[in-house]
This record gives sequence, C-alpha cells and structure tokens, in this order.
Amino acid sequence: MTATRLELHAGDITRLAVDAIVNAANGRLIPGGGVDGAINRAAGPELARAMAAHGGCPTGEARITPGFRLPARYVIHTVGPVWHGGGSGEDALLASAYRSSLALALQHGLASIAFPAISTGVYGFPPERAADIAIATVRDWTAAHPGLERVVFCVFGPEAETIYRDRLSS
Ligand code: ADP
Repeated sequence: MTATRLELHAGDITRLAVDAIVNAANGRLIPGGGVDGAINRAAGPELARAMAAHGGCPTGEARITPGFRLPARYVIHTVGPVWHGGGSGEDALLASAYRSSLALALQHGLASIAFPAISTGVYGFPPERAADIAIATVRDWTAAHPGLERVVFCVFGPEAETIYRDRLSS
C-alpha cells in the first residue's frame, strides 16, 4: 500500500471535495462560530440536527455526520482543547483530536480527509505549536495505519499558510 500523501491547501474548507472535512466543534456539538459556523452555513440546517443527535463529544474525541449540501461526503466533528497555558494536557488532547478523526475516517473506508487548524481560533492554542503537533500526529498515525490516500491541511490566512508551508517542506 502506498504512503498517505500530506497536502497543504489555503482557503475555505467548506469548498473542498474530499471524503470528509473535519470540524473544530465544541463539546456540546451545537453550531458555533469560526470554522464550525462556516461549515454549518454551507451544509444547511440538517447538519445541526445530525450533530445534536450525537449528544455531545468529549475533548479529544470525534463524531461523524453526513456532509449534506457540502461537496464533502462527511463531516468529522472533533473537539480540540481550549488553551490554558500548556500545563493542562493541551498538547495530548490536540493530538488525540487528530488521531480520533483519522481513525473515524479509516473506519468508514474514506480515502481523503481535510483538517482545519484545530484549536487555533477562539480556543487560543499557539499556532506554531499546534502545527507541529498536527503534522507530527498525522505523519505518525498514517505511517502506523495505512489506508488513507490523502490528508489535507486546510489553512485559513497567510500566517497559518507560512507556518504549515515551512513545516511540510522539511
Ligand atoms: P477553535 O474553537 O478550535 O479554535 P475556530 O473555528 O475558532 O476553532 O478556529 C480554528 C481554525 O479554523 C482557525 O485557524 C481559523 O482561522 C480557521 N478557520 C476559520 N474559518 C475557516 C474556514 N472556512 N476554512 C478553514 N479554516 C477556517
């Protein structure tokens, strides 16, 4: 089996025609702002109902719903940690959010998945540190669990793009 390709895409994750896009959701799985709001607006009102049906999601775990009106077939909702200074297990919880999302994609037989920069918006995780964790976690997990063809890091804004471009090229 060939190795999973890691790609960088700059722009709006709601436009990506991948098997699943990942949503940086809150623990109640009630539509919020940021990427969650954008995904819900693009998917239509059925998404909020499908999210609510899960009854919430603990930090570091993930849940799957259809993509409804999105070009992506599925949305994988994961809950990243709120940044409290780094001494409250934030790194491990962020890595867990990536791994849980990848595991759900593989369980559903999906070939491609796109991640936003989880926790780096209103949850306040330092973006460079979050990118290091995101890339290392995806590299390690996909090496140990073959099956996904493509993982896309979807960055929003020039700062995030620079951070990921530097790290993915090394
Ligand atoms: P969190 O609560 O996990 O911090 P946010 O939605 O506030 O989640 O931010 C997570 C990341 O998603 C941020 O880097 C933000 O710039 C990015 N983001 C916001 N809207 C979009 C979008 N439409 N597509 C891709 N990324 C987005």
